[in-house]
Amino acid sequence: MSDGDNPAVRLSEVRERIAKASGKAGRKADDVSLIAISKTWGPEAIRPLIAASQRVFGENRVQEAQDKWPALREEVADIELHMVGSLQSNKAEDAVALFDAIHTVDRPSLVKALAKAFEKTDRRPALFVQVDIGEEDQKGGCAIGDLPGLLERCRDRDLAIAGLMCIPPIDTEPAPYFALLGRLAKEHGLAALSMGMSGDFETAVMCGATHVRVGTALFGERGE
Ligand SMILES: *Cc1c(COP(=O)(O)O)cnc(C)c1O
Repeated sequence: MSDGDNPAVRLSEVRERIAKASGKAGRKADDVSLIAISKTWGPEAIRPLIAASQRVFGENRVQEAQDKWPALREEVADIELHMVGSLQSNKAEDAVALFDAIHTVDRPSLVKALAKAFEKTDRRPALFVQVDIGEEDQKGGCAIGDLPGLLERCRDRDLAIAGLMCIPPIDTEPAPYFALLGRLAKEHGLAALSMGMSGDFETAVMCGATHVRVGTALFGERGE
């Protein structure tokens, strides 16, 4: 095994890169939460990262997360699990039961479903509104013009919103999109910014990301 195949080494490299990017931007590395995106990876791939002290993980499907994480949580109590994939309204209750954060609130029907789910439990995952920052319909996210209205609905339903999330268009310089998400968050008084993936997390950190979502750089290429 070369060092590059060692998950603990990859993790320390990613943490180092976050620390460097934070330093360049005059930020503290501790202000950036690294979410290890473990979608498609099984427990045997996840355990080495847990052993290397990673505790924050992300998944993009409710069912897959339900299959994997309850058992892993029996092994380690302090796992923080984030939902980063698009969420069907009929899965809102399951998602609230399982996840500590949901990054993909993007439409009124989901706001309604989450508010209903909250009525049945004391669990309160942190909520992010996903913004369709590149105005590309296929990626999900609320249109930039619809953001004020959606946030107002969240307030009406007593859903506290922690921040905004985006996935910029591929093969384009991401910094302008990250900067725009930052401006929108500031405009609405929101502190958290979920942005940056394996290819661009350093740029995201320099643009103010508080949560970066990194899969490939930690786990290797997915066999999707
Ligand atoms: C898969 C995924 C990631 C991680 O992507 P990598 O390029 O593998 O780091 C981040 N965010 C979301 C929403 C994803 O679906």
